[in-house]
Amino acid sequence: MKIFCIGRNYIDHAKELNNPVPAEPMIFMKPPTALLRNGKPFYIPGFSNEIHYEGELVVKIAKNGKHIDPKFVKSYYNEVTIGLDFTARDIQKKLKEKGHPWEIAKGFDFSAAVGKWIEFTDEMKQNEILFSLKKNKQTVQLGNSRDMIFSIDEIILYISKFFKLQAGDLIYTGTPAGVGKVEKGDVLEGFIGEEQLLYCEIR
Ligand code: ZN
Repeated sequence: MKIFCIGRNYIDHAKELNNPVPAEPMIFMKPPTALLRNGKPFYIPGFSNEIHYEGELVVKIAKNGKHIDPKFVKSYYNEVTIGLDFTARDIQKKLKEKGHPWEIAKGFDFSAAVGKWIEFTDEMKQNEILFSLKKNKQTVQLGNSRDMIFSIDEIILYISKFFKLQAGDLIYTGTPAGVGKVEKGDVLEGFIGEEQLLYCEIR
């Protein structure tokens, strides 16, 4: 099982971190050991003083595919949830300055929280999914898949040029504006529409 993540897929988030808007999807990966499931708490790791949450739509790949034909791309995914791409922002900043890969800032253990999976409806596949993240009951991120720079379909087509996609692979599709630091005791809750799919306590 592979975990793909898309960086800078919303213009407002690229701006908040002073990053350029990409011309092609920016892909990075997390190992399977990054998964944090079933509402388990997230423990702030000792190596970072600045862990950020990034609330994102996460898409699950339904069947194997390579060089996927655009006509059939919608048959390659059928489930979605909201997830958290936990990021050691302090470490990421240093790596970026040196032009180094991001893995230790992004792929560490339990850095990829996922909520409960739901099936895509036809309307959602036409690329209208509203989602939100609350921190301690206050909405901190509001997203709409329409605002993605690269749509779910475009991301899957792009990834499949380089990697064989396999059933069960996950794609974190990027975060809208509003990312921020977590502290011990925070509670993060993720929603698609009105439905709560994710609950994560920070310890
Ligand atoms: Zn992210």
